[in-house]
Amino acid sequence: MITVKNLYKSFHTLNGTVEVLKGIDQEIEKGEKVVIVGPSGSGKSTFLRCLNLLEQPTSGEIWFEGQQINVPGFDVDGLRRKIGMVFQHFNLFPHLTVQQNITLAPVTLKLKSQEEANERALELLKRVNLESKADAYPSQLSGGQKQRIAIVRALAMEPDVMLFDEPTSALDPEMVGEVLQVMKELAEEGMTMVVVTHEMAFAREVANRVLFVDGGKVLEEADPDTFFGHPKSPRLQDFLNKVL
Ligand code: ADP
Ligand code: MG
Repeated sequence: MITVKNLYKSFHTLNGTVEVLKGIDQEIEKGEKVVIVGPSGSGKSTFLRCLNLLEQPTSGEIWFEGQQINVPGFDVDGLRRKIGMVFQHFNLFPHLTVQQNITLAPVTLKLKSQEEANERALELLKRVNLESKADAYPSQLSGGQKQRIAIVRALAMEPDVMLFDEPTSALDPEMVGEVLQVMKELAEEGMTMVVVTHEMAFAREVANRVLFVDGGKVLEEADPDTFFGHPKSPRLQDFLNKVL
């Protein structure tokens, strides 16, 4: 579904050039759940953002469903319709109700009529036990509820893959579980998922494959049992000692 070949990404700043991604190669199959862990500043968000072209790679290739996406003239809007993304901060529109937040994109992009989109929104809200909040505004919701709505909003586009960038990092601890539960259910339904998280129990339980990103490279990757049980590189051993 996604192929990444020798991906490099640099940023130009006032202080010069910062090389953030330094040659990433990845192959993500349909239905796979890939969890990415690694220290702060190692390039995890930049990698996710390259996958839906929120960042333009400096060099290398990214392929999605058989087409190279980092080529001039590529239909970026079409790509983002198929790749849902959930961020640490929920980015809901404060002046719109929950249901309006969920239906805005599919209706504006003419993928669904308002009526169809409303119906689908209610179905999705039922799935995350928030149907009673359809007419509420984001300010009336808890952090965990907002993040579940953000997930539902991404799902309303019927994406082929979902990217999550530390979706529980901004939540109070008691709300982490409800968001992870929604993600687990999505994983069980067969969604292709790429998840950056510090929730190691989630990685262990849900991932097919865990990647350790450090210094802009995938330093180590393995199935969760091997990754957590037999980490090879000293840097990963050190990282796991700190977080577990
Ligand atoms: P992570 O998600 O692993 O914490 P990021 O991908 O957010 O790491 O950032 C990796 C590095 O890239 C950091 O040093 C960060 O400061 C730098 N970086 C990210 N985005 C930009 C940008 N738009 N301009 C300049 N530097 C950036
Ligand atoms: Mg990040």
